[in-house]
Amino acid sequence: MVSEKAVIKLSKPSLDSLESDLIQKVLDSNQLVQGKITLEFENLFSDYTGAKYSIAVSNCTAALQLSLISLGVSFNDIVIVPAYSWISTANVVSLCGAHPVFIDIDPKSFNMSPIELEKTLNSLFDLDETRKLCKAIIFVHTFGNLNNIAEVCSIAKKFSIPVVEDAACALGSQSNGKSAGNFGKIGCFSFHPRKIITTGEGGMLVTNDLSLSSEFKALRNHGMDPNSNRPNFISAGFNFRLTEIQSAIGISQMKKIESLLLSRKKIAKKYFKLLNGSDLLAPFYNNTDEHSFQSFVILIPLEIRSRRDEIIEYLKNQGIETTIGTYNMPRTTYFSKRYGYRIGDYPVTEDISERSISLPIYHGLTEGEQELIVSKLISLI
Ligand SMILES: *Cc1c(COP(=O)(O)O)cnc(C)c1O
Repeated sequence: MVSEKAVIKLSKPSLDSLESDLIQKVLDSNQLVQGKITLEFENLFSDYTGAKYSIAVSNCTAALQLSLISLGVSFNDIVIVPAYSWISTANVVSLCGAHPVFIDIDPKSFNMSPIELEKTLNSLFDLDETRKLCKAIIFVHTFGNLNNIAEVCSIAKKFSIPVVEDAACALGSQSNGKSAGNFGKIGCFSFHPRKIITTGEGGMLVTNDLSLSSEFKALRNHGMDPNSNRPNFISAGFNFRLTEIQSAIGISQMKKIESLLLSRKKIAKKYFKLLNGSDLLAPFYNNTDEHSFQSFVILIPLEIRSRRDEIIEYLKNQGIETTIGTYNMPRTTYFSKRYGYRIGDYPVTEDISERSISLPIYHGLTEGEQELIVSKLISLI
């Protein structure tokens, strides 16, 4: 029999009549493919992030792929990526025919380590053959944390390599008044239901470069010249468009983004308080930054890391949905088989990926539920 116990979900999108009313308007208009509503969503997104150009696409993976194509990444090239991320960060490199070179992470913020990056770039630039193959760095704002982005951008500048921000989780994150997506040449956002705002599936490219923005508009729409009145195909493009229905959801979500972010911040603050003094390590962040808190990922003590999956399973049976942080990409079947990565190659990523647990965080999670989650967790360690 199915348990009647209330289930605390890991994440829940915040949807109400704002979304359904606007969806109905789109349905009534009979205009379903990319049009005025998508343009309005893009304009709202530019206003919010401060980026000059926003180009909506079908998801963040598509945004990352178009970013690499626009930077000329092709067969046999090298793209630098962190070892710890959702798999699309590395998959898009392979999809371009290029090779990902993984960089270990910083144990505090879980973002790419600037020290490791510089070491790797120095060794790649020592050789003529590899120097000219390095085409891009993808920096991931892990779980919304902007830590190290400025440092990575200044290293990248020294080596003249463009930075693409995988800001899938970082809508609303800011450092020194600058929003995620504006540090590198291109920023990529996701509207998957676990992210800050959702359109079901969806993504956004942001850039301050006019010619890149035109290229993205062509590439998402069969290679059609966005600046011509008649169909004129100027590149081998994709169909990576967002629909008007999805954009209607996006507009509605952007209208409540401040309150969505505020709830996440309040929930995070409460978790920090509840975890204080326990053996569970709360996530690090620079408190002069604005953090989106897309996920709230804690670490269990080293001595019990082999019990991590068992803890997640136990909590699930108690009606609390949690999950792992994210993936040690070099150790996934595809990348380890293809490049021969072994245990110990990325020690920090390995450690963090084995000890992390992502706790429920969404608009509507109550303080009582948070207390229950943390007390159950503490009782297990
Ligand atoms: C969610 C996520 C993606 C993929 O986004 P989609 O919109 O699902 O394609 C890419 N990178 C990171 C870091 C993510 O968290």
